Amino acid sequence: MQNSFYNFADPLEQLKQQSLYRSRCVQEGPQAVVLNLDGRQLLNFCSNDYLGLANHPAVCAAFQQAVNSYGVGSGAAHLICGHSTAHHALEEELAAFTGRSRALLFSTGYMANLGVISALLGRGDSLFADRLNHASLVDGALLSRARLQRYAHADMDALQTQLATCQSKALLVSDGVFSMDGDLAPLEKLAHLAAQYQAGLLIDDAHGFGVLGAQGGGVVEHFGLSQQDVPILMGTLGKAFGTFGAFVAGADDLIEFLIQKARTYVFTTALPPAVAAASRVSLQLVQTETWRREKLQQLILRFRSGAEQQGLPLLDSFTPIQPLLIGDSERVMAISKQLLALGFLVSAIRPPTVPAGTARLRITFSAQHQESQVDALLDVLAKVVR
Ligand SMILES: *Cc1c(COP(=O)(O)O)cnc(C)c1O
Repeated sequence: MQNSFYNFADPLEQLKQQSLYRSRCVQEGPQAVVLNLDGRQLLNFCSNDYLGLANHPAVCAAFQQAVNSYGVGSGAAHLICGHSTAHHALEEELAAFTGRSRALLFSTGYMANLGVISALLGRGDSLFADRLNHASLVDGALLSRARLQRYAHADMDALQTQLATCQSKALLVSDGVFSMDGDLAPLEKLAHLAAQYQAGLLIDDAHGFGVLGAQGGGVVEHFGLSQQDVPILMGTLGKAFGTFGAFVAGADDLIEFLIQKARTYVFTTALPPAVAAASRVSLQLVQTETWRREKLQQLILRFRSGAEQQGLPLLDSFTPIQPLLIGDSERVMAISKQLLALGFLVSAIRPPTVPAGTARLRITFSAQHQESQVDALLDVLAKVVR
């Protein structure tokens, strides 16, 4: 007799029928604008390596040197004996860069969100979340057992109405740059509401950090918001920074509390110190190589004006995330496949990553792209997106 617990064939077949089946390509070599994928060369428009730092010579050299001093593994959690001088220096530099009192490294952004939310909230508390927030913020809410109240995307009136009747301890959480839409959260209003209703505010700036603001300080620099306005700031290092890991920045007390209480901090192995050392160099490059952000903006403007001329279904975004709304999962898969056949790697984003009926191509740009490559993308999009 077959044990029915292990019947995965039926649900897998169902995902295929719904055009929701996901599969991986195998890529050789470093992250770059031209990728070697399954033995073919493809133009990459789906990476989060926005500034092109993932394979930067100085970042790679710092990593290699640090391996010579620290080895590879950190050996333990931060609170045991895994917290190295490289981690510590990176935390201090991230705090200074973000204008926050302190920063705390987490091994991934996913874990940072889970750890922070579940440390700050418990049963009986409330969490207010934008409907388009990243999955890790939703999962953090579930883990905390707080009551999750979602408001329509960026709808601050809806949020205020919900807050007005809330009796419990409350935390507002939002993506800074929405990962599948590319638009910004109404941060000034969020900060205002959080202050007015005595609620906490956590902003996840995975996609803005390094990309937005004159210095690359992200969405809080873009809006000019201090630690007082946005008391809990999360940023990741695996996207624009080109390395790996994440941090939470804020007041001294907040960080001390997280060190004690964030279970995804306490009960996990620290990042390899060499990753922290590489991130320190990325942080330097983010600040000094401002041309990377300027180049990105030029590419984005070029793409948007070309796409507008062709009447392509653009969303309202000025970030390197430029989705084209297709709607139907089957259709977005067909388009993505056609693009692949023509040598363009563009990811098709479907439910449950985005709401039903809003499947899309998620086009992302890197400072490494050339204008001619953006033009080539526009040419093929004109052919395959009708
Ligand atoms: C990528 C992402 C995360 C997760 O960060 P990782 O370091 O990849 O785990 C969290 N939040 C948002 C909005 C993201 O886009």
